[in-house]
Amino acid sequence: MPELPEVETVRRGLAPVMEGARFTRVEARRGDLRWPLPKDFVSRLEGQTVTGLGRRAKYILADLSSGEVLLMHLGMSGSFRVAAAGEEATPGDFHHERSKAAAHDHIVFHMSNGGTATFNDPRRFGCMKLVPRGLLDQEPLLRALGPEPLGNAFDAAMLAHACAGKQTSLKAALLDQRVVAGLGNIYVCEALHRSHLSPKRKASTIADRKDAPNERAMLLVDAIRTVLNDAIKAGGSSLRDHRQTSGELGYFQHNFRVYDREGGACPTKGCNGMIRRIVQNGRSTFFCPVCQK
Ligand SMILES: [Zn+2]
Repeated sequence: MPELPEVETVRRGLAPVMEGARFTRVEARRGDLRWPLPKDFVSRLEGQTVTGLGRRAKYILADLSSGEVLLMHLGMSGSFRVAAAGEEATPGDFHHERSKAAAHDHIVFHMSNGGTATFNDPRRFGCMKLVPRGLLDQEPLLRALGPEPLGNAFDAAMLAHACAGKQTSLKAALLDQRVVAGLGNIYVCEALHRSHLSPKRKASTIADRKDAPNERAMLLVDAIRTVLNDAIKAGGSSLRDHRQTSGELGYFQHNFRVYDREGGACPTKGCNGMIRRIVQNGRSTFFCPVCQK
């Protein structure tokens, strides 16, 4: 499932094709994804200009000249493919990959700059919704989300306050989208390893008695920002490669320290531990029991 850095990479990959351009034609090849498409989906998009392309947690938000916002979520298996003007005729692997997946190309945006963005989603857990800009604060999909982990509102004080008194594990608290938005299993494992904190530790232990952040909270916030920024940077380099091949956005090689590395040597300098996998709240956690306390 795409996590925040992948979604941010998709947003950046869509920007050259969508930002500042007008929808000249929209193909909705089926009436639903996870939910039915909004009423008059095509006619509410065609003719509108994308005035800005933003992101909130794992939602991509396209501001439209009509005053509505197109909210897009990739779900489990959704992806976008972009092609700038004229690129669609690229021969070779490109054609092969496209034809194989064409049955799952559900929505195609044709833009006034000649570019296209195609939404492909085999499992159809993705969604597209149109919301008036003024009602975005009340949008049920966004309303309960905590602060953006890369935004100013997310800091040690905020995180400690949200975790104070929580008897759940630190890992479960970080996966709670009300505490911080957009963090998923992979980057929580990576951030906990980087900050040398055990995923099993109680969430409340990053706050002192007055809900103030202790050093653990500060290390953790730094680690979360670092792992996300590193991954976004890796995604940025992948964009340059992908633009020349399939145009598919958001899938790139990662160098995870612990995620999916059960039995591997711990990469922490001077640590001779081995990465273990445990199950917490039904999901795999990867960590080093030696240097994560
Ligand atoms: Zn270790």
